[in-house]
Amino acid sequence: MSRVGSTTSAAHRSVHRSSALNMQFWKPPATSKHTRLAKEPALDKCKPDADWKEQLQQNTYQVLRGKATEPAGVRKASGGFDDVFDKGTYVCAGCRTPLYEDSHKFDCGCGWPGFWTNIQDAVYEEKDADGRRCEILCSGCGGHLGHVFRGEGFGNPEPNERHCVNSVSLAFIPEGKTDGPDAVECTYTGRVFGGTA
Ligand SMILES: [Zn+2]
Repeated sequence: MSRVGSTTSAAHRSVHRSSALNMQFWKPPATSKHTRLAKEPALDKCKPDADWKEQLQQNTYQVLRGKATEPAGVRKASGGFDDVFDKGTYVCAGCRTPLYEDSHKFDCGCGWPGFWTNIQDAVYEEKDADGRRCEILCSGCGGHLGHVFRGEGFGNPEPNERHCVNSVSLAFIPEGKTDGPDAVECTYTGRVFGGTA
């Protein structure tokens, strides 16, 4: 997805010069010092786009590599994880990096799997191309997971974030099992929306 980095940076610099314009620009909420988001992603599992396209089922490719979004409510019955609260670990559907533990998941009620934090440094954030939201990505492969929101008053432990994650970006390893045949893959094959892939 194209970036608007230079334009955005210029806009933010102008905000600092003119307080009268402050309300016109989005500013990221203060990040908790307890955040476990990576400052420097490892990105040691990146590979050419053609390889991802060959490896991933179509809608997973569209979300992980093209930043598309699955519809709300991809629940267990549809092959997703929105209402799954079993013990285990969620890994990246692309590179299998462990991203979230079951203890991080909570019923946020938004229709997508929600997590109040992540496994240390397994996820990083970037400002979305829309300039308003913060995208979250897998630190291993840079795959798009969803978005992170703060300051919503959910009452979870610090950092009390809400990672709004697409089910199709994830696979689930039940507690006591290892990745492989015992992993629960997202089997939702319906449409996803937006994105560039
Ligand atoms: Zn990954």
